[in-house]
Amino acid sequence: MIATWIDQAAHVLMSRIDTLATLSEEPDGLTRSAYSPPMRHVHDLLTAWMHYAGMHVWRDNVGNLIGRYPSRNPQARAFLFGSHLDTVRNAGKYDGPLGVLGPLLCIEQLHHQGVELPFHLDLIAFIDEEGLRFHTAYLGSQAVTGHFKREYLNLVDDDGITLAEAIREFGGDPAAIALDRREPADVLGYCEVHIEQGPVLEAKNLPVGVVTSIAGQTRIALTFGGMAGHAGTVPMQMRRDALCGAAEFVLAVEAYTRQSPDMVATVGKLQTEPGVSNVIPGSVTLSLDVRHHDNDQRQVVCQLLLERAQHICTTRRLKLDWTVVHQNPATPCTLALSHLLERAVSEAGYRPHFLPSGAGHDAVAMAQLTGIAMLFVRCKDGISHHPDESVTVEDVSVALDVVDRFIGLLANHYRTHE
Ligand SMILES: [Zn+2]
Repeated sequence: MIATWIDQAAHVLMSRIDTLATLSEEPDGLTRSAYSPPMRHVHDLLTAWMHYAGMHVWRDNVGNLIGRYPSRNPQARAFLFGSHLDTVRNAGKYDGPLGVLGPLLCIEQLHHQGVELPFHLDLIAFIDEEGLRFHTAYLGSQAVTGHFKREYLNLVDDDGITLAEAIREFGGDPAAIALDRREPADVLGYCEVHIEQGPVLEAKNLPVGVVTSIAGQTRIALTFGGMAGHAGTVPMQMRRDALCGAAEFVLAVEAYTRQSPDMVATVGKLQTEPGVSNVIPGSVTLSLDVRHHDNDQRQVVCQLLLERAQHICTTRRLKLDWTVVHQNPATPCTLALSHLLERAVSEAGYRPHFLPSGAGHDAVAMAQLTGIAMLFVRCKDGISHHPDESVTVEDVSVALDVVDRFIGLLANHYRTHE
């Protein structure tokens, strides 16, 4: 039985998400990168909403907006909720904001009921998770965990603005980012609510699911180097066509990956040089993204794909450049927190379903600081990173109910154990 405030809160959440979706860098569609003018606007709105929920609000130096629902005990540790406010290009509106506005509405209810918690409840709206502007990942959450690297500050966006300049323009002090890090001893755990971005919950006919682990990921940039030449004069046998090699590789990626259950691999970007219709492609650079929740299996497939690429290059007289640009291991969710989420789902009247996450989340970075849990919310057709991303108000109600119960269970736990 859902409490009456929840239905109302779910409608408020949907309308706030619609409002945030209008704050975009592009007139048609939602694109909101870190430190952009619309991001500033989002922060202004969120600050007001956080104040209304009885929270203390501040922005840290990297640009995360943080609200604290304070415990009466100033020495209390903090439990963290969070997700991101930045988007991909032409994004959906729920990926990220759902995990900020959901917990916020639960906190608003706690505030209006005058509930006191044995811990500070901190809600962090991360400034940059998608990495659209500086081609990074987890800038905001890495600053919270103390893993923000100084060299990130020299990264440059498409307009030649460095990250350090963007941060300063947004009101932060790049030199002070390290001071904002949380200490593990001060933090009780982290929970992130997020749309599933996959079709599993819909297929199971369930509104929410509890995440078991977040897939590990390897991103590789590779270049097939051949020889450009005239499309009319170089005989087929004499060509060193880089695109033909790349094409063979792309299909090999699909074939290898299909043989491994739960493995996914994607070539999403392909750049042909010189990229002219009457010139044989001289070089092709492509991206490869490989994910699995088992680190060993992911490594094995990456090695097999490297060998396959080498073989293609040998037979086609091409040169291969293979660079691992990003790698992070699979991140298991913390059992104790996941069990509390499981209980909250049961008590809300739903069958708890456990599922892995194929997508990366701020929780991956936060796991370096503290225990993590994630609640997935069903989304229509599993679509995300697309304007068609869709979540129902009924499912949002269930998610709010679960988060409210989860906070209650956490509070009971710490009232009796500390
Ligand atoms: Zn996201």
